Amino acid sequence: MLTEKPASWKFELETPELGNPEAVTSLHAETGTEQLDSILYDGLTFAFEGPMVVDAEARWADSDLAVSMKISAAFSVPCSRCLEPSRIEILNDFLYLYSLRKKASAGDTSADEDFHVVQVSRWQRFFDISDHVWECIVISLPSKVLCSADCKGLCPQCGRPLKNGKCSCSLNELDPRMEKLLGINIEETPE
Ligand SMILES: [Zn+2]
Ligand SMILES: [Zn+2]
Repeated sequence: MLTEKPASWKFELETPELGNPEAVTSLHAETGTEQLDSILYDGLTFAFEGPMVVDAEARWADSDLAVSMKISAAFSVPCSRCLEPSRIEILNDFLYLYSLRKKASAGDTSADEDFHVVQVSRWQRFFDISDHVWECIVISLPSKVLCSADCKGLCPQCGRPLKNGKCSCSLNELDPRMEKLLGINIEETPE
């Protein structure tokens, strides 16, 4: 079970030719489910149900390197109400800006920008985006998953999922307010 980026994750992009505004480098990586452990995040277990696909592209934006990333994956997650396995898919785009410049503020990344600034000390032939791939996945995971929007959850008495119809508890134990109604005889009036 993963709670942080596994050491085996290695996603690298080649730095585009320095000073060439037209230069673009890209990465397409598919990681099969057999190489992916479940992710434990925010109390939920996300088991990969298909390959994790990472597409990244780097190009110069003035003196900074703009890296766009697209991540997609499918997971099986227990429904937050009835615990039945439910399938979710994530597909998200992210933009990172690698920069040699010192950031003006001490803050890590500024939340009001729609890209994340990453400060680098120098340009190397390849740069590692594994941390960002992990970050993008985790940011994309929902904190609550429902098998269906109207999932009725579990019976508080016997713990059975209520989506397969009422269990016997709900037949035996009526709301006390309903019991009064049961005493009323409704006479059928034959025509
Ligand atoms: Zn459910
Ligand atoms: Zn029950």
